[in-house]
Amino acid sequence: MVSRNNSNRSLLLSTTLASVLLVALISFAYTVFAAQPAFAEDAQLVATTPAETDSTNFTDVVAEQPRKAKYTTVSEIKLNKTRGSIKNNGKLKLEAALVPVDPTLPIKRTKVTWSVSKPKIARVSEDGVVQGKRTGTVKVTATAANGVKATATIRVKVNKAKMAKRIPVLTYHRICSDKAKRNVYDYTNTAISASLFKRQMQWLKSNGYHTVSTEEFADWRIEGAFLPKKSVLITIDDGLYETYHVAYPILRKYNLKATSFVIGIHVPKKTAEYNPSVWWDRYMGRDAIREVRKEYPNLEFQSHTYNMHHRYGEYGVAKYWSRSSIDADFEKNAKYGFTSIAYPFGHTSQHLLASVRENPDIRIGFGYMMYHPATRTSPRYNIPRFKVFGDGGLGGFKSIVRTAG
Ligand SMILES: [Zn+2]
Repeated sequence: MVSRNNSNRSLLLSTTLASVLLVALISFAYTVFAAQPAFAEDAQLVATTPAETDSTNFTDVVAEQPRKAKYTTVSEIKLNKTRGSIKNNGKLKLEAALVPVDPTLPIKRTKVTWSVSKPKIARVSEDGVVQGKRTGTVKVTATAANGVKATATIRVKVNKAKMAKRIPVLTYHRICSDKAKRNVYDYTNTAISASLFKRQMQWLKSNGYHTVSTEEFADWRIEGAFLPKKSVLITIDDGLYETYHVAYPILRKYNLKATSFVIGIHVPKKTAEYNPSVWWDRYMGRDAIREVRKEYPNLEFQSHTYNMHHRYGEYGVAKYWSRSSIDADFEKNAKYGFTSIAYPFGHTSQHLLASVRENPDIRIGFGYMMYHPATRTSPRYNIPRFKVFGDGGLGGFKSIVRTAG
């Protein structure tokens, strides 16, 4: 409406008025000559409808008195700092205060969008937290809904001697209650008890380890972004409902980051109540994923494929599927915005790797049971991961984590 010019406006006005008059005239004719009350009511409805429902351009042109404004817009953004510096992968929180055009009215759209001029130097989160990646200077911009902007200049200084050279990637599957481990999952070292998982997480925390997201890990591997020594990437495969019921509260308690690799086809709408006595697989639902993404983004969700988590004989279907079947599987997962993938059973094929490599959304791919830490030269689309065994105790866990450096 704002962009429409005056001649268009008057044309629209006269056309609209003409049609209103015409409709009114017809309705009058019906009322007088046909004398059918039902028709008269209908016609009156037609005649008044445009003014009542078309709020886009009719009412404010026709109305004699301008509607009283209830909201105002942003005239200026004030940042809590316009300069700042970050060391290594330190963080800096920017706050944007919105100055209203009319100070007596509230601002209607208060959303602020953050962006950085050089994403390889630093990133900025949705709520204005700037995190350094490499030495350099970036401009961080806050933009209001009406386009008003403010910019801060942030210097990042990275000490490469303190940067991680080796990052162990840990793989868990079922992190279940102690009762479930004792009663139904005692036979498998793929299930780990809540109390052991808790001791491991506590040990990480009290020994100065630093958990990272897959995005941070990909920046480190691909772009050479800074991550401190003693960095660890925790991954939990399959998206079992225990990840939500058992692992999530523990990760949250120690404020640790982790990534859950989910199998698209298994994700139900709702997550079932936890039952430590059943032995069959139950999966985290869309409700739980939505909740975690909102409440605790430190636990993130990535792809374990849509429907490639089954085997033909010894190998995962990835070994046998054609390129087009694999691409179609990826397509079904595309809407979730995944940026990394863990191959089911760690099995890959030429087609699978080609499909991942050529997928613009996927930045990095993870293998399985490779038992060495990732380095900056590890194959980008087949990053090694350790399996953390349920019967490995705290000792087995420490020996894996201590490969960090
Ligand atoms: Zn799996």
